[in-house]
Amino acid sequence: MVIVFWALAACGSRSGQLGLTPAEKALINGSDSLMRVLTIYDREDSLLLRDISVDFTDKDLRSDEFKALAAKMLYTVQDPSQDGVGIAGPQVGLNRRVVAVQRYDLPGEPFGVFPNVRLDSLWGEITPGPEGCLSVPGWAGMVPRYSNIIVSYKDPLTLDTIRERIEGFTAVIFQHEIDHLDGVLYIDRADSLWVDVR
Ligand SMILES: [Zn+2]
Repeated sequence: MVIVFWALAACGSRSGQLGLTPAEKALINGSDSLMRVLTIYDREDSLLLRDISVDFTDKDLRSDEFKALAAKMLYTVQDPSQDGVGIAGPQVGLNRRVVAVQRYDLPGEPFGVFPNVRLDSLWGEITPGPEGCLSVPGWAGMVPRYSNIIVSYKDPLTLDTIRERIEGFTAVIFQHEIDHLDGVLYIDRADSLWVDVR
């Protein structure tokens, strides 16, 4: 405990978060644009996917490492080898609260990157829909999700906290990706699962 408190005092931000470690910086800087996506079929990967992710510090959000990570996550999720609609920090080996999500609710359906993201509330109809996951290749399942959510995240430029109401399929993607940050996979919530070889 003494070591933990010392570490918080030495490198923590006002909220007591810890900055990016040398190992995390090395992972970001050493990775190609196409990052390796962790899967549940590898023991080490699976343990990391099940761990709890923590926030970035304000300093980290303004760092070159965060810019590089955001760009590489966007490249990776959109690469034809993955072709996903969302990806979360743990899936590229970082237990940090960040997700990249395709915004089907916005004109042009752009991807966005959302650091220190949280689900503030969920409401509306709970409807099952088909889901897959880049970390569980070869499978798909029906997962019940809420129709409406409020998410909060930090703008990495202004460091303001942004809150947004989102509904529909984009709300489902956010629920799936934010689950990753709490070590939860869609297979934990699925009503049914099936082999999906494409
Ligand atoms: Zn996933």
